[in-house]
Amino acid sequence: MTALSKRAMGMKYIKRAASTVACLVFAYVAALAFPRPLFSHHMVYQNYEIWSDQAIPPEISSVLDDTTRRLRTSELYKPDWTIRVFFCNANWRMWLYGGHFTSKIGGGADTILTRNVYLRSSDIAANRLNAPDGGPLNDAAVRPLSYFIAHEAAHIIESREFGRLMYFRHPIWLTEGYADYVGKGGNFDFAENRRLLMSDDQLLDIRRSGLYRRFQLEVSYLINNGLSVQQIFARPPNEDDLLKALKKNPHTE
Ligand SMILES: [Zn+2]
Repeated sequence: MTALSKRAMGMKYIKRAASTVACLVFAYVAALAFPRPLFSHHMVYQNYEIWSDQAIPPEISSVLDDTTRRLRTSELYKPDWTIRVFFCNANWRMWLYGGHFTSKIGGGADTILTRNVYLRSSDIAANRLNAPDGGPLNDAAVRPLSYFIAHEAAHIIESREFGRLMYFRHPIWLTEGYADYVGKGGNFDFAENRRLLMSDDQLLDIRRSGLYRRFQLEVSYLINNGLSVQQIFARPPNEDDLLKALKKNPHTE
């Protein structure tokens, strides 16, 4: 084979690979944009539209009532906004829609394209999200299923208020900290979590615990000091400075 024909063959493979990648990207975006055909069960409750790949038990109404109670702790929440939630009981659906190409997450929010919320396998009747490894859920006492729905819905609220690119424009301690602030619905002991921060407890370290407690503590500190959510998102402080202030000032409950 001449050098010229080798080059032509190479170009042919590159073009074929590029068109395959383009087709996969198109299929992925189409699946993200139109998820409903892949979820056979659907119901509407108040301002919630719920889809699932399994039958939806009637207890969903009390789970959503508790979700609303949590969302009302946000000054940005508007009750007339429709919140779309998709339950992915099959791992492959969570992998596809969770936004991280893994099924080992609690949920995800598509803040850019559809503003849909996705939750992993859940026991709706027990108001419980099933842990990815099948064991007990980390920090389960303060994280029922309604917490997870409210946390992901809070990301949709952030997206509506601060734009579809808010994840890129704001630090993670703020976007996740505020989502947890809303998701916990007031069930957060500021003094106790500050004490755990001071003692370098693993619960306050996301790398060791996988929890957003430190981020929530930081956001709570700013809100407790009188800042509105708009003010915080407009000018987020440096996280190191914020942590220093938080450790120095104990009377911020
Ligand atoms: Zn989140």
